[in-house]
Amino acid sequence: MATPSGKSLRSAFYETRSISRDVLVPEDPALGLIAFASPNDPEPSIRIAAGRVVEIDGVAEADFDLIDAYLAAHGIDAAVAEEAMAIDDVAFARLIVSTAVPRQEVVRLVGGSTPAKIARVLGLLSPLELMQAMAKMRVRRTPSIQAHVTNRIDHPLLIAADAASAVALGFRELETTVPVLRDAPLVALALLIGSQGPAPGALTQCSVEERTELELGLRGLTTYAETVSVYGTEQVFLDGDDTPWSKALLASSYASRGLKMRFTSGSGAEVLMGAAEGKSMLYLEARCVAITRAAGSQGTQNGGIDGISVTASVPNGMREALAENLLAMLYGLESCSGNDTQMSASDMRRTAHTLPLLLAGSDFLFSGYGSIPTYDNSFGPSNFNAEDLDDYLVIQRDWGFEGVLRSCDDATLLPLRRRAAEACRAVLDELELMRFSDDEVERCVHAHGSLDVAEHQTEETARAGDAIIERELTAIDVVRALAVRGFDVEAERVLEMTRQRLFGDHLQTSAIFDEDMHVLSGLTDPNDYAGPGTGYRPSRARKLEMAQVRQVRSHDELLAEQAPVAGCIQLSDRGPAEARPRPDEVVVGISPAFGVDVWLTLSGLTVAEALRQVLAGIEEEGVAARIVRVTHSIDLGMIGWTAANLSGSGVALGMQGKGTALIHRADLPVLSNLELLSVAPLIDGARYRLMGRNAARHARGEQPAPVLLPESGEAFGPRYHAKVVALVARERARVRPGPPQTVEATWPS
Ligand code: CA
Repeated sequence: MATPSGKSLRSAFYETRSISRDVLVPEDPALGLIAFASPNDPEPSIRIAAGRVVEIDGVAEADFDLIDAYLAAHGIDAAVAEEAMAIDDVAFARLIVSTAVPRQEVVRLVGGSTPAKIARVLGLLSPLELMQAMAKMRVRRTPSIQAHVTNRIDHPLLIAADAASAVALGFRELETTVPVLRDAPLVALALLIGSQGPAPGALTQCSVEERTELELGLRGLTTYAETVSVYGTEQVFLDGDDTPWSKALLASSYASRGLKMRFTSGSGAEVLMGAAEGKSMLYLEARCVAITRAAGSQGTQNGGIDGISVTASVPNGMREALAENLLAMLYGLESCSGNDTQMSASDMRRTAHTLPLLLAGSDFLFSGYGSIPTYDNSFGPSNFNAEDLDDYLVIQRDWGFEGVLRSCDDATLLPLRRRAAEACRAVLDELELMRFSDDEVERCVHAHGSLDVAEHQTEETARAGDAIIERELTAIDVVRALAVRGFDVEAERVLEMTRQRLFGDHLQTSAIFDEDMHVLSGLTDPNDYAGPGTGYRPSRARKLEMAQVRQVRSHDELLAEQAPVAGCIQLSDRGPAEARPRPDEVVVGISPAFGVDVWLTLSGLTVAEALRQVLAGIEEEGVAARIVRVTHSIDLGMIGWTAANLSGSGVALGMQGKGTALIHRADLPVLSNLELLSVAPLIDGARYRLMGRNAARHARGEQPAPVLLPESGEAFGPRYHAKVVALVARERARVRPGPPQTVEATWPS
C-alpha cells in the first residue's frame, strides 16, 4: 500500500532517518561549492626573476592581490620553485605517498610550490593514499588530542572540574570559550587551575575576540592560542579589516611572550562569506596554509572547522577535509585536525568523517573533541562529544590506533574533579572574586553537565571577569592564591607553565608537554614513519590501557548470574535411557551441563522453568514425556536427533542450557530438524510451552504451525556472544562418551 502522497512505505521510511536531516547540494563552482578542481582554479605556474617570485599561478606581479603579494614575498622558496613546479603532477603525488621518500624532501619541494600546484597534486590522491601520506608527513611522532571544555552558564567550578576530567582522560590541549565575553577572564582562570591537577603541562586557551584573547595570554591565564583566522581570498580578509601582515603581527605578538600559537582556516569559510571567487575549496585552503607557513605560524587548525557543513554538502567534501589536514603536514606545520564542528545528524556519517583521520594519525586528532555534553559545548556540538566517549574508546580498542584517550571510572575522576573545584573555589575566594558553597562544589563534582548545577549568578560571573581585567590579575596572582590556600601542587604547576615561557621549547613546531613535562615537538619527537615497523607504535603498557574500557566483562562476571539460581532443579541420572518403550511419547533431550552448572538461559529464565514449560506443553496435548541427557555432544542438532532415536514416536525436543531449543525427528538427517528456536534471548516461557505442544503434535503425526519469535531488530551477537562462549565452555567441560542417560527431575518447592 502506498502512503497518501503516493510514495512507497520504504521511501517514507527513509525520510525519517537522521541522514535525511542533512541538506546536500550539487556542485556549483560559481558559488565555490566545489571540493576539488573548479573550472575557475588557475593553472599552476611560477616565474622567478633575479631570485624574486614575479608570477604565481598565472597572475603577474602587477596584478597580485594581497595574498599573492604576501606569498611572493614570504611564502614561496624561490630557490626551489622551478624544480618543484617542473615535477609532473602524478610524479609529485607519488613522492608524497611513497614511504621511500623522506618527509623532509617533500616539505622542501612543497616550499617551492604554488597553491594551485599543491591543490592539483592532492586532488590525485585517493582516501587511502591521503591516509598513507598523513602517516608519513605529520610533524610529531606521538599523536595528541584537544578538548573543548565549556558550559552554557560559564560556571567556573564546573569548568575546573571538567578540565580535570579532560586531562585525566588524556587531552593535552583544552580550549574554552564563553557565551558572554565578560566571563572570559574568569573561565580562562578556572580552566588553567583545573587543567594542572591530574597531571602537569596541559595547554589551555580561551577563544574569544583577538584583543581579549591576546590579553589573557599575556597575563598567563592562557598558555596557547589558535583562533588567528586566515582566508583564501582577499575579500574575506578585507571584510575582517585584516591582511596576512596583520595576522603575522599577531602571531609574533604571541610568540614574543612565549605563547604557543597556531592559525585557523578550513574550507567553507570563503563560501559562507560569499567571496570564494568561484574557486575550489582545496585551492583556497592551499592559499590559507601557504599564508600560515609564510607568517611563521608553527601550525594550523583546519579540515573540519566552522565551515565543515558547507564542505560536507558537496560531493567529495570529506575527502577534501582530509586533504586539508595533509596540506598542513606537507608545509611542515603542526596539524590540529578538524573534527571540531559536527557535520551531520547521522552518527554513521560523522563517524565516517573522523575515522580515516584517526587511523592515519595526526598531531592533534581533534582540534576540539567536546569533552563536555553537547548541550554545554559553547562552540556548538563537536563531531564527537562526551556522549560519544565510550564509543570512541571502544573504536580505539578495536583498531589499536593511538586515539590518545583512556577510560577513567568515577573512582579515578571524582577525587580529581573535587580537588579541581575546591582549588578553583579557594582561588576565587582568596582573590575576592566569587564565593561558592560546599553544596555547589559537590554538584559540580558529580555533574554530567551544567543542567545538574542549579545555583549560579550570571551577572556575578561577569563582574568577576571584569574584576580580573580591572585589577590586572595574572597567573602569578593565581599561583599565590593557590599556595596560600594549601594547593601546593597546583601552584607549582601553574607557575611552571609560566616559567616554560622563558625557555620557549614548546614554541617549536607541533609541541606539547607530555604528562612528565617533556616537550614533544618536531624537534624532540620527529615523525620517522617510513613504512611497516617504523614511526609511532603504542607501547605494550599503552595497548593494555587501551584495552580497558567500561564494557569489558570478565569470564567470572559473565557467569556470576548463574550462581544464585544453582539448584533450581534437581536432575538425577537413572542409568542408560531405554529405546522406544511406548509409541505416544516425546523425549526431551538436554545438553551435558543443563541443570548441572548451567542454570540460567539467555532469556533470563531458569532451566527449571524452561523445562517445566516444555513438559507442561507436551502434557497439555495428552502425550507422554521423559527426559534424557545426551552427554557425548553439545551440538543441539545431535542432542535432538539422539533423543529422537530413543523416542517411541520418533519425535524429540532438544534443549541446551543457554536455552536454544529444537524439535527433531529420528528419520531426518542430524543437521536437519522440524522446528528451531535459535535466538535464545527471545524465548520466553510461553514459547517453551508452545514448543512442547508442537513436539507433541508432531508426535501424533500432525503438522502444527511453527513457533515464531517476536520481531526484533537487535543484533544479539554483540550482547550475548561473550556469555555464550562462557556457557558453551561449561557445556564442553561436561561432555563425556557413553549412551544417553535417563534423568529424573524434581523441582524444589
Ligand atoms: Ca580548537
